[in-house]
Amino acid sequence: MKLAMIGFGQAGGKIVDRFLDYDDRTNSGIVRAAIAVNSAKADLMGLENIPQENRVLIGQARVKGHGVGADNELGAEVAEEDIDEVQNAIDAIPTHEVDAFLVVAGMGGGTGSGGAPVLAKHLKRIYTIPVYGLGVLPGTDEGGIYTLNAARSFQTFVREVDNLLVFDNDSWRQTGESVEGGYEQINEEIVRRFGILFGAGEVGDGQEVAESVVDSSEIINTLSGGGVSTVGFASEEVDLNTGGGLLSRFTGGDGGADDNLDAANTTNRITSLVRKAALGRLTLPCEIEGTERALLVLSGPSEYLNRKGIERGRKWLEEETGSMEVRGGDFPRQEPEVAAAILLSGVTNVPRIKRLQQVAIEAQDNIEDIQQESEENLESLVEDDEDELEPLF
Ligand code: GDP
Repeated sequence: MKLAMIGFGQAGGKIVDRFLDYDDRTNSGIVRAAIAVNSAKADLMGLENIPQENRVLIGQARVKGHGVGADNELGAEVAEEDIDEVQNAIDAIPTHEVDAFLVVAGMGGGTGSGGAPVLAKHLKRIYTIPVYGLGVLPGTDEGGIYTLNAARSFQTFVREVDNLLVFDNDSWRQTGESVEGGYEQINEEIVRRFGILFGAGEVGDGQEVAESVVDSSEIINTLSGGGVSTVGFASEEVDLNTGGGLLSRFTGGDGGADDNLDAANTTNRITSLVRKAALGRLTLPCEIEGTERALLVLSGPSEYLNRKGIERGRKWLEEETGSMEVRGGDFPRQEPEVAAAILLSGVTNVPRIKRLQQVAIEAQDNIEDIQQESEENLESLVEDDEDELEPLF
């Protein structure tokens, strides 16, 4: 699937920058165009791979290149005011070669949190291709204002995109790491998961064609219907070009005891990877039962992939989710690992979001109280007790 990626704000820009690097390394061909939008000049300058001409500075008249702080209402306003500048950058990319837009942003900050939903709304008005969001939730230790920003951005972003894929920083936080080092690793996890999902069906030069292909229309169908999505992932290292079902694949598994064993191993490996991916750590933790649609992509050297394994994995997912719409396919890649990536689309049983909203409401109430209190305190400081003094004007 070919995407036009637009990173909004610092996190969004860094993640899209990383996607470009992933694309280069793996030859996956998913990033047809990459744009970064920010109100902070320094953040745009810190990017490594996004071409200079695709870095758009917005809100210069208001914040002079210094960013909006964590004020996402201001982030939304400057995005609205300067949407033409963003559109100019999009006009320069070949949108007719693109299957969908992906707007990426951290939802806890200001620029991306406020700006990404504004951009999504604008894109949906103009283009007929789907507009997806990739929204990052802040860690719970980031504080009330980030949680409040994220809760409000989440609500708005979901409404404006065709589907919101969510990644929760909180589930991926590692203790004892520097924030920057931590993000580097988290961003790598993000691009790996979404890279395999969106990369399925994109056959580069010299790559093998899948036996049961996942093409972009299957990804689009899985994401259609809107709502919120999460991704599960599991992988296992394997040796390249040393069997694991190579013969059995070509002989249909009828070549003798060894071949049968190989085929059984391959199938078992796949089904256990599918379970691990669905029941392990999801990009947004949630209950998978009740998921509306799902897509299973199995990637790895073709000798380690078989139709039976994928079919079993798909069936198992149908039972676990209760969904009647579970698609699946393989994605042959000459990498020394077999990986299962599962897109669960239309999830609704998400306690993490309910908790986020609760904390956000508490933060909102606290902020109002503090504001009121500080107004009263200021008044009692400035006014004299008996009201004997008159201001000048
Ligand atoms: P903005 O520039 O005003 O949009 O705000 P930022 O993107 O700097 O921060 C918004 C939120 O994104 C933060 O609260 C963090 O939770 C998260 N964040 C910032 N940088 C990264 C990053 O590199 N990777 C990830 N996964 N999250 C990030």
